Formats: sequence, C-alpha cells, structure tokens
Amino acid sequence: MVYENPEGIKIGLEIHVQLNKLKTKMFCGCSSDYHNAAPNAQTCPICLGLPGTLPVLNKKAVEAAIKVGLALEGEIAEETQFHRKNYFYPDLPKGFQVTQYDFPIVSKGKVVIEGEDGEHVIGITRAHMEEDPGKLVHLGSIEKSKGVLINYNRSGMSLIEIVTEPDIRTPKEARRFLDKLRNILEYLDIFDGNLEGAMRVDANVSVYWGTRVEIKNISSHKGVERALLYEIMRQKNVIRHGGKIIQETRHYDEGRGVTISLRTKEEAEDYRYFREPDLMPMRVVGWIPSVRETLPELPDAKHARFIEEYCITDMHARALTSKIMLADFYESICAKGVDPKIAATWTADVLLGELNYRDLAISSYDGKKIFFLNTKGMKIENSFKVSDMVELVPLFAEGKISDRSAVEVIRSILDSKGEKSPFRIIEEKGLSKAEDDLVSKVVAETIAENTGAVQDYLGGAEKSLNFLVGQVMKKTKGTADAKTAREFLLKGLKG
Ligand code: ZN
Ligand code: MN
Repeated sequence: MVYENPEGIKIGLEIHVQLNKLKTKMFCGCSSDYHNAAPNAQTCPICLGLPGTLPVLNKKAVEAAIKVGLALEGEIAEETQFHRKNYFYPDLPKGFQVTQYDFPIVSKGKVVIEGEDGEHVIGITRAHMEEDPGKLVHLGSIEKSKGVLINYNRSGMSLIEIVTEPDIRTPKEARRFLDKLRNILEYLDIFDGNLEGAMRVDANVSVYWGTRVEIKNISSHKGVERALLYEIMRQKNVIRHGGKIIQETRHYDEGRGVTISLRTKEEAEDYRYFREPDLMPMRVVGWIPSVRETLPELPDAKHARFIEEYCITDMHARALTSKIMLADFYESICAKGVDPKIAATWTADVLLGELNYRDLAISSYDGKKIFFLNTKGMKIENSFKVSDMVELVPLFAEGKISDRSAVEVIRSILDSKGEKSPFRIIEEKGLSKAEDDLVSKVVAETIAENTGAVQDYLGGAEKSLNFLVGQVMKKTKGTADAKTAREFLLKGLKG
C-alpha cells in the first residue's frame, strides 16, 4: 500500500525542547527547577539581560545537543557558533535571543515513524541550541486579555530547537512523530516530558503543495493533531471559494479548536541575525566520541531486542518500549523469572489499557514501582509495583485465577492506590478460581433457571449459549473459567 497524499498536504514541525533535567540554565547558574518557584524568584542579572553582563555557556547543554544529534542520526558540526536574533518582545529583556543561525550544531537527521503506509522516514533538517525567553501570562484568553504578566524564571533555560523537513503527510503522522520524538528524548534522560512547556511545537502546513501557514506554540501532541485537522480544512475551504492562502502566523485556540490569524510571517532578514560577540565559536568535534559512549539503547533497538529476547509480538514490544520507564518496569518483571510473554500481555494490554481508561500517564519508575500523573500533568498518589506483576502472572499462568479475576486484581491495585497486593485482593474478594464441582453446580442451576434461553439454544439460536455462559460467570463473580463453563454447559444442554 502506498499513501498517495491526494490533497498535497505538507507538514513540517519545529519543536522547542527544554533541557529541564540540566541543573542550571544555559548561560548562568540559576536553577532549572523553576516550575514550583515563585514568579521571578529564579533570576539573576544574566538571565534578566541587564546591561554589562556576560554569558558563560553551560557545557552540559552542548553535550545534550550532541546526544540529541547522535540519537536522531544527524551530522554533528565540527565547529558551531551562536548568533543573536534581534526582536523586541517583553519576554526577551535583552532585545535579542541567543540562538544558532547558519552553523547549527546538528544537521540532516531522521526519525522513522509508523506512517500511513508503513514505515515512513521524517527528515530532520537541523537541530540547534538557543535560550528560552521568559513567559507571558495572559489574564484570560489571548484575544480578550486585559493585561499580561511576565515571569522571567524560564528566561535563559537551555532549549534545543528541532526542525523537520515537510515530510509529514497527515495530522496523525504529525502526532506519531511527536510521540516518537518525545520517547527518544526521554530515553536520553535530558528532559522530563511531563513538565509544563517541556516540548512546544510550531507546525507549518500547506495544502495542494501551496503556500504554507505557521501555527505557533501548541502545547500538546493531541493539540497539534487537532490544530492541523482544523487548519487543513480551513485552507481547503478558502481555496474552494476561490480565495488565496497567504503566508501568515496563526494561533491555535485549544478551547474553541480553531486557528486565528496573529500576523503575517516575518522573514529571516527581519531579525538582523549577527554573530554573538560574547561567545566564541566552538570546535566540538573532539567531544563526539565520549558523548557517543553515553548514548543508551534507543527505542527502535530496544523494540527489536524485546522481540528477539522475550519472544513477544511486535505490537507488545512497541507498546512496552514506547516509554523508557515502562520498558524498565517490564524488564524488572522478566528478571524475576516471570514468563515474559504473559507478563507482556498483562502489562501492555491490561495495565496500559486500564491506565488509559483512567487518564493516567506513567511519570516515573524507581526500580520497584511505576508512578502516575493525570492528564492535566498533576502527580497523583498512585503506583503499581513490579512485585504486583511478579505475584499475579504465575497465579494466572498456573490456572489459579481466571483471566477476568486477574483483570479485577489489576483494577483493585489501582483502586487501592497501589496499597494492596494481589494475594490480599484475591483473598478479600474470593477470586481464587472456582473449583470444577462448583462450576458444574452453578451450570445446573443456570440451566434450570433460564428455560427460555435453553429452549432458544436447542431451537438453533447459538447466541443463547453466550448468554448462559454470561450467567454462569455472573453467579461465580467471574471466578469460573469461561472455557470450562462453556464445556459444562454444552454437556448439560445435551443431557
Ligand atoms: Zn540567571
Ligand atoms: Mn526558536
């Protein structure tokens, strides 16, 4: 199957990744851990841009940029340097942003995603280092706001801006690309994707190979997908009515699900880029080997190894490696001698499905348990232990509990906020598998009590058997093995 892209949609993304795991900012000693700090508390003359101050580059930020470049299979520049991007805006007290222009540290990388027609390569044009501006806080919505507050805690944080080629063909591919990129960056241990503002996306999109429009500063991957869906529809409508798409910058209003024109696009020359005279050009070529040594096993390699080593399906391996914490959690379970295939099913299908249903995301793993965040990014008091799976999987594998009961155990662990163990839940709820004589007793009762369904079945309505199995499961509170119940019912109905 080849995806033809009939509407000529081209999407390119620019992603600002904040290196929020580095201890200090890019050019000063202020702490990077500002998310819970009082407004403007974590600032100094350098990140406030006061006259006469000089930047001192954080070596760790450069190493992180090289790490990103290697992980994205890009070329690392032998020599790189900083430029000033001049513009006036209140979040930028210096009047310019220190960034990189024609000598970015990384160029020509790639990320492989699951595209519309199988594996699809998204080219990475470049990745460069720059400093984060402060943050404007609008009172109310951006359009109607009567005032704006400024918080400079974010000013001077290290960013890596990653720019893709316009290789993305659908909003869904854009979302998959972002999920994959976030996953890779989390493997590199350079940022915490759960923190507010960790990844900010600008999306460029055009239809029928026409003029592109930029949508600025979208905060979630779902938001990017929705903004693109809306913007593609809007552009197609304009063209259908004989209009022309103009090159402009638009804002995505998450609440209303629409994009709004902000300004016509500025050109690069408007920024009057020039070399940053306070920072010397750097030769980083000598650093590459030692940074390469620190590279962890990346998602694609881990995915292949999981299939090979644990004999699990491609789908399970993909789900389990989609987050480094989950992959580590799974491997700890396997290391305890648990059957890896069954552990994969109960982790990737049941546990992940249950987390999804509860709108919980995995936020961290401490070697013993995984912890969760809700979708609003708030840490909640809930966890799931490696030992929970280590207890549960063998009970199921040895036929001591039914699969419905095993699901129930997982739900109950989450309901108890990780407090109760599988053994305790099985005892409290009486979930040990019903013995065969109990099942056969309940089957006899069920046949006697449901004469209508029995008649229907004997009259040829095969579906009535499912109903009767359901009744047996209900009476045994799910502790019967559904297969056994079905067999016993068939025997009873014949007799
Ligand atoms: Zn500072
Ligand atoms: Mn930028």
